[in-house]
Amino acid sequence: MGLDGDAGFGEANRRTEVAELEVALVVEDSRVKSYQVIDFGSPLRDTDLPDPSPTGHEVVVAVKAAGVCHSDLHIWEGSYDLGGGRRLMLKDRGIPLPLTMGHETAGEIISVGPNVTDRKVGEMVLVYPWIGCGVCRVCRDGYENLCMKPRCLGVHCDGGYSDQIVVPNSKYLLPLDGLDPVSVAPYACSGVTTYSALKKLGSVIKEEPVLVIGAGGLGLMCVTILKAMGGKGAIVVDIDAKRRAAALEAGALAAVDGSAPDALAQVVAALGGPGWAAIDLVGSPQTAALGFDSLAKGGKFILVGLFGGSSPWSLPLIPMKAVTIEGNYTGNLAETRELLDLVRSGAIPKIPIRTRPMSEATETLEDLKAGRIVGRVVLTP
Ligand SMILES: [Zn+2]
Ligand SMILES: [Zn+2]
Repeated sequence: MGLDGDAGFGEANRRTEVAELEVALVVEDSRVKSYQVIDFGSPLRDTDLPDPSPTGHEVVVAVKAAGVCHSDLHIWEGSYDLGGGRRLMLKDRGIPLPLTMGHETAGEIISVGPNVTDRKVGEMVLVYPWIGCGVCRVCRDGYENLCMKPRCLGVHCDGGYSDQIVVPNSKYLLPLDGLDPVSVAPYACSGVTTYSALKKLGSVIKEEPVLVIGAGGLGLMCVTILKAMGGKGAIVVDIDAKRRAAALEAGALAAVDGSAPDALAQVVAALGGPGWAAIDLVGSPQTAALGFDSLAKGGKFILVGLFGGSSPWSLPLIPMKAVTIEGNYTGNLAETRELLDLVRSGAIPKIPIRTRPMSEATETLEDLKAGRIVGRVVLTP
């Protein structure tokens, strides 16, 4: 660069070089660190991505809390066990790699697109991640979480395991109004999922105990939210003694060891007879059988967990017992709003939450996989 003998031109060049260096430094400063799935099952890789600038209705949120959810394990591993030797492969289902996971995100708005009028920079918000196409029938009915063309943050689009998350529309942001981002983040998935499952049981929860199978992050949420909804209480099943103790501490009426040979008899005794309502947060053939077998005639079984396998029920028993078997996938935006109002009211006891630095995302997933986590882990920047 530069022409020898032309001092003026050389000086100009030097100035240009300095300016370029400054630009490069600015760009270097404003890159966003994300922890991404590069290959299914491989450790997450920390990647520097360009600083996003929001367009249209988009909002950029600086992540202050990113909950680590059990379903992240399935995304990370790249498949679901469908039973009978079949697997649902995520690479065949439009899950793009590299992908930044994280669908339980809370943080601070740092920039908004030109069309955003209802949210301001500096506001602390919870990000609703279960976003659909916005135009199909279920989306128009307010059930974007059930859209067949999902754009869920942290699943189909980049999520919260990052310094920043881009939210496609400000309507998916719920103000925290002073609530703590770390304790609120898990309500975007484990909270609203169990809230929606409990709502499906109707008013029976006020009169009868609910069987809750699984006392991980979801189970503890379910126990505490049931309490806040005015429920009679939960009988919890888990094979892990520490998790059973955590469930009792969270307010469960009783906790049964699911691996006991007489687990069903113990459950029915704790329920005071065959039950009216069971929520299976695990979703294995064993837990689904236990939930189904515990029901009285006319009872309701809500299946939430995605552990995998085939259904264990004998077909004639479904009509003979006139049971309802219903699936539940997360919850909708309106339910998330209702749930946050419950949180604000102070009615929901806090579940144990441990924070870990974002850089420990892979180790956290490994701990979750190995069953070493009680309650919830939330990653923080
Ligand atoms: Zn989740
Ligand atoms: Zn849709």
